[in-house]
Amino acid sequence: VTLMCTGGCGAVYQTTTNPIIATGDGEAMVYRAKGTVKDMEFVQFHPTALYHPGETHPAFLITEAMRGYGGILRLPNGESFMEKYDKRLSLAPRDIVARAIDKEMKIHGIDHVCLDVTHKNPEETKKHFPNIYQKCKSIGIDITTDYIPVRPAAHYMCGGIKVDLNGQSSIERLYAIGECSCTGLHGGNRLASNSLIEAVVYADAAAKHSLEHVDEYDFNDKVPEWNDEGTMTNEEKVLITQSVKEVGEIMSNYVGIVRSDLRLKRAWDRLDLLYEETEALFKRVKASRDICELRNMINVGYLITRQAIERKECRGLHYTTDYPLHAYDKK
Ligand SMILES: Cc1cc2nc3c(=O)[nH]c(=O)nc-3n(C[C@H](O)[C@H](O)[C@H](O)COP(=O)(O)OP(=O)(O)OC[C@H]3O[C@@H](n4cnc5c(N)ncnc54)[C@H](O)[C@@H]3O)c2cc1C
Repeated sequence: VTLMCTGGCGAVYQTTTNPIIATGDGEAMVYRAKGTVKDMEFVQFHPTALYHPGETHPAFLITEAMRGYGGILRLPNGESFMEKYDKRLSLAPRDIVARAIDKEMKIHGIDHVCLDVTHKNPEETKKHFPNIYQKCKSIGIDITTDYIPVRPAAHYMCGGIKVDLNGQSSIERLYAIGECSCTGLHGGNRLASNSLIEAVVYADAAAKHSLEHVDEYDFNDKVPEWNDEGTMTNEEKVLITQSVKEVGEIMSNYVGIVRSDLRLKRAWDRLDLLYEETEALFKRVKASRDICELRNMINVGYLITRQAIERKECRGLHYTTDYPLHAYDKK
């Protein structure tokens, strides 16, 4: 019995709150093994990651609690903008706030907006948010007197390896739990803090189910040896790191918060080229972690893009300018 629990895949985007291990290895492996990987178009972007160039994997998260506390989203010139988008202002749901920020950044040609808590009591702010205070202080921002520069970052993958209520995938003896799985629990738009269900409840269900059925399996299958042959030159290492950057750029520019048929097609074509190059390289060089992760990231990027192309509507986290909003989302 194999259990896939490789976490999220935010690393395929230029900026993410996820750790660097979030390269979607589980989804990519299962896809290559012809298992079902579903709902990959539903990528949740957290609206307010700290904007600090050079710190993009992971980007430091500025919690929603800060907006709950009274934080106001503003343009760098001080103008507030959420009133244009939702009557709940800065407290609107993540996808609406992320789209609003994305739009403002594009309209004004800026690389971040700001979160303002300078009107709040400084001592209260420090008491409620000691980590954010310290983190911002370390890069020269005093949040009691300065705006916090923020922008959206890839945060959570609602889709993944399709599993049933026991955590079983479409491949026999293969289970998946946690963020790499697609249980359907999050629908197309996850509510904050629900990921623990996917990790904890499904871990329990998968463990129990596999123990009940383990005696039915035949374990005489031969597992092929790991291919550890080949050589890696410095030049080839550069090819890998450069391609990883390209995946991030393609995904952020064309398969991000707001999508269109034209952008998705462009992403598809660029990823196709990277795929061909990387597969050729993979056959030639030593199978290092770097090249395996790159290969997986290209696969994951491809899955997100393809499933986004196939969804000809706006629904949940998938927003495209070419198709109208789903009736539910208009409410
Ligand atoms: C900043 C931040 C804040 C969050 N806040 C919340 C919150 O408040 N509430 C909430 O419910 N959720 C929250 N989430 C989401 C939640 O943390 C994740 O969805 C959850 O931790 C995923 O757990 P997991 O076990 O699936 O994956 P992970 O915890 O990421 O574990 C995956 C493991 O697999 C390993 N791995 C990956 N690939 C391979 C490989 N190829 N071979 C071997 N090992 C591999 C990794 O090293 C890692 O140890 C937050 C996420 C972030 C990034």
